[in-house]
Amino acid sequence: MKAALVRQTPDGLLDLVDDWTPKPLEFGEVLVDVEYCGLCHTDLHVANGDFGNPNELGTRNGAFRRVVGHEGVGRVAKLGEGTSDFLKLGDRVSIAWFYDACGSCEYCVSGNETFCRNVRNSGYTVDGAMAQQVVVNAKYAVKVPDDLDPVEASSITCAGVTMYKSLKVGETKPGQWVSVHGAGGLGNLAVQYAHNVFGAHVAVVDGNEDKLAAARANGAEVLINRKTPGIDVAAEIQKVTGGVHNAQVTAVNAGSFDQAVNALRPMGKLVAVALPQGDMALNIAKTVLDGIEVKGSLVGTRTDLAEAFQFGAEGKVKPIVEKVDLRDINDVIGEMKAGKITGRKVFDFTTL
Ligand SMILES: [Zn+2]
Ligand SMILES: [Zn+2]
Repeated sequence: MKAALVRQTPDGLLDLVDDWTPKPLEFGEVLVDVEYCGLCHTDLHVANGDFGNPNELGTRNGAFRRVVGHEGVGRVAKLGEGTSDFLKLGDRVSIAWFYDACGSCEYCVSGNETFCRNVRNSGYTVDGAMAQQVVVNAKYAVKVPDDLDPVEASSITCAGVTMYKSLKVGETKPGQWVSVHGAGGLGNLAVQYAHNVFGAHVAVVDGNEDKLAAARANGAEVLINRKTPGIDVAAEIQKVTGGVHNAQVTAVNAGSFDQAVNALRPMGKLVAVALPQGDMALNIAKTVLDGIEVKGSLVGTRTDLAEAFQFGAEGKVKPIVEKVDLRDINDVIGEMKAGKITGRKVFDFTTL
């Protein structure tokens, strides 16, 4: 069957193959017929070997090649032993970056399972969903509500739950100001969850007018093009909002982190979501005198994902998605690297 694999020597692109087969089911696992799978910047890092060569991680044998993909949605096609208490044939489930974890460490038992030291990640340490079939751990596969569009669900599986969780991490409250730095695949969902679910006011920073227009349509009240000549982004946000209560950084450039810190009001929280290489500058005096908090946020737990899906099913959040052909995957990678995509391109496995 068809699958998109990391190259033997990772170089940022993927190889499409026709002769891939998923591994045999073990206890607790089910086989899923993939319907849709989105591609996100984390996949580009994996394909480029930025987190180590995924072909050499996790279970492997012989000329092993890793299948990418962690924004997958599909239907259960075969139940392995010990799974019928959790899933039944035909259930629609998601394949998220958080694949599974040990289930018994201090992080797992305290509702922080994504930080388990034995976590496995789809499309990185286990084969992901950019294939016609994928094996998942039945206990960890979160069901997709019937009344949620499966193409939109693929986007909530990663980008949606990531922003829903990071707004929780930022302790977002109704009536507060949230700034969203970067209005792409993550940012447009940040705007929707912040405005429509948390009831917050939203300021958005981006360098692309189309993305800013999409943010406005999703409820953002303050829009700042960071490429405007002479603009001081943080000063502008301070002027209009009085400083934001929390700043969500989804942009993959380190400068956005500086702007976000300086956009905060006293006791504001910076939530780091994007993963640019390098360090952020943090003024010690401002951090101390203003009581600034800096937090990282990593995807979301199964419960976070189930909640994020439900808000999608209720129509409060609607990802910007476009179905595309799997054969175009390397072209899509090029467009993503160039920052040209508003929302998500989602690969359609139903028409293969
Ligand atoms: Zn992702
Ligand atoms: Zn654990």
